[in-house]
Amino acid sequence: MIAEIIAVGSEMLTPFRQDTNSLYLTSRLNELGVQVAFKTIVGDNLGHLTGAAKIAIARADIVIFSGGLGPTEDDQTREAVGEALGLGLRRDNEILTAMYKRFAARHMAMPPNNAKQADRLEGAEVLANANGSAPGQYIDTVVGRHRKIVILLPGPPKELKAMYEAECRGRLAASLPERHMAKRMLRMALIPESQVDARTAPIYQQYSDVETTILAGSGEIQLHFQCVKASDAEAQARVDELAEKIEAEMGEAVFSSHGEQLEEVVLLMLGLRQMTLAAAESCTGGLLAERLTAVPGSSRYFVGGAVVYADSLKTEFADVPEELVRSDGPVSKPVARAMAEGIRRRTGASVGVGITGIAGPGPGAAGPDAEKPIGLVYVAASFAGESKTKVVELNLTGDRERIRFWASQHALDLLRRSLLERA
Ligand code: ATP
Ligand code: MG
Repeated sequence: MIAEIIAVGSEMLTPFRQDTNSLYLTSRLNELGVQVAFKTIVGDNLGHLTGAAKIAIARADIVIFSGGLGPTEDDQTREAVGEALGLGLRRDNEILTAMYKRFAARHMAMPPNNAKQADRLEGAEVLANANGSAPGQYIDTVVGRHRKIVILLPGPPKELKAMYEAECRGRLAASLPERHMAKRMLRMALIPESQVDARTAPIYQQYSDVETTILAGSGEIQLHFQCVKASDAEAQARVDELAEKIEAEMGEAVFSSHGEQLEEVVLLMLGLRQMTLAAAESCTGGLLAERLTAVPGSSRYFVGGAVVYADSLKTEFADVPEELVRSDGPVSKPVARAMAEGIRRRTGASVGVGITGIAGPGPGAAGPDAEKPIGLVYVAASFAGESKTKVVELNLTGDRERIRFWASQHALDLLRRSLLERA
């Protein structure tokens, strides 16, 4: 069973308006195990609309139109569908009466234009509109030897959603075989997409009944799995089996096996080990703290820290020896290490993290950092009771925003990997 959604309205062919109804409808159809195979946006033009309707009806089992049911000349979805399916349009007295009543209840006379909203396609069921004047229509018919379900819904999102819920979901569920969709997401940090694909494709290609999508961006790779079966348990079992095989292949690179964010995972791991964390941040300016504190309940494991942008504050708030900053420069391995150790001692946390680097676009300050390249970042993690502090040197690329985000991402992943070793 595949579906096509047609968003009708010239405004969505301008730079100013987007079709969001189809996103809503896609998620609802997916819940019923129906895949959306095509989406089309058509302007308010009868010829174009009829052409699009014919194509959609030929290639999809379910076609849902959104918009173009209004009272004005340019609202022509009814006419186009009639033409495409060879169905006549008849003015429906019941709809007309309901519309007169709706206007009367508001002490308004119904403008004559509105009468065309009462035009019903032959054989269509009328879908009540709780939030507007345009009723929807539901057609369950046979074209050639194929069953086709064609639905006309109003464009305003509030009307469309309410009408789908009240009038379409049940009708569709009743006419479809029982299908259930299971989904699962694995997330990996700081690994190239090509590498993920090379290693996982031989596995997921064996699961032709599971749809696998790889999404890359913002310092992480997501693997999405989706499977439709007659029962929930069956669909879940398939995605779980595939996800587990991929986790086994990718090992520690996988930070999340049910879609959790990296910062959530780090906090969870701290909690399991009854540890607390503090951060001294220079080039990220508090971004790490911001990401951690965005997670509800983080206060139990993240105590806080300091933004130590100026050299003097690295010393004052994170105990970095003044002469270390002078000799090695603020962007250096020893300073990152001292920041992590210092902030840990100062705050009494069990773990301290330090981040220092050059985010650009201008070069670093004078002194030892003058020659250092943009994108050079050091992240360090120090654990209470351990003398060895791990420091990682990074050479990040991209603009200031990207370098800062990736630095925070690396710091989180260093923490995660360090915590894994301390299970
Ligand atoms: P109706 O069928 O209810 O008359 P219409 O297309 O005739 O719908 P319009 O006046 O064109 O109504 O649109 C009403 C509002 O709904 C507008 O703000 C429009 O941008 C919005 N809208 C229409 N289609 C979509 C869509 N696919 N996604 C999001 N918003 C939409
Ligand atoms: Mg419109």
